[in-house]
Amino acid sequence: MLIVRNLSKSYKAGEPILRDVSFELNRGEMAVLTGPSGAGKSTILKMIYREERPDSGEIKLDQYNVTKIRPYQIPRLRRHLGVVFQDFKLLPERTAWENVALALEVAGKSRRQISSRVTELLRLVGLLQRSGNYPHQLSGGECQRVAIARALANQPLLLLADEPTGNLDRENSQSLLELIREINIQGCSVLMATHNVDLLAALPYRKLYLKNGMVTESIE
Ligand code: ADP
Repeated sequence: MLIVRNLSKSYKAGEPILRDVSFELNRGEMAVLTGPSGAGKSTILKMIYREERPDSGEIKLDQYNVTKIRPYQIPRLRRHLGVVFQDFKLLPERTAWENVALALEVAGKSRRQISSRVTELLRLVGLLQRSGNYPHQLSGGECQRVAIARALANQPLLLLADEPTGNLDRENSQSLLELIREINIQGCSVLMATHNVDLLAALPYRKLYLKNGMVTESIE
């Protein structure tokens, strides 16, 4: 479903960040992209949602040739991706409910569809009771759960998570990883970037290790 082939990338005149990155992710699979801070994990994710482009190589997601599509096709590609970030990126002046609903409004869903889907999503992430709260009234862990609900709103082919536990304490990180795992078990493919290997050491995720511009695989 996701094919990443021979990516290379340099920013401006610097040394290449990525030299030759290749991996594949099957439908329904979950993998964690690890590696030191600055190795280029975010850059790979950005290329998948077409925020950046490689110097060479290609990315295919389902029927999309991500590296080749034209700018006007990018919104369509992004409708098939859910993305969560370290800093949540929730709209501060909207409640948890409204943050999730907005993703469905933009996709043209009816009010009735929106209402039942937002209920379902906030229940999934364990926050139905907090749906009227604004981001500043929620903890970091809760904000990230809202961000996940929003990312899943339109049933993406793939959930991309870029250091989703980066702003969370250990306990919240662990429970967030359990939530992401549960979402994967329910059928959503997941690619998560993190440098926090401690947290993942004991977990049976497929691991892609990025170092010196190359990805190697280790299954532990
Ligand atoms: P990671 O997610 O593994 O921490 P990043 O992909 O964020 O790594 O960054 C990889 C390297 O590329 C870093 O050295 C970073 O400073 C550099 N970098 C990232 N984005 C840009 C950019 N837009 N312009 C210049 N350099 C960048």
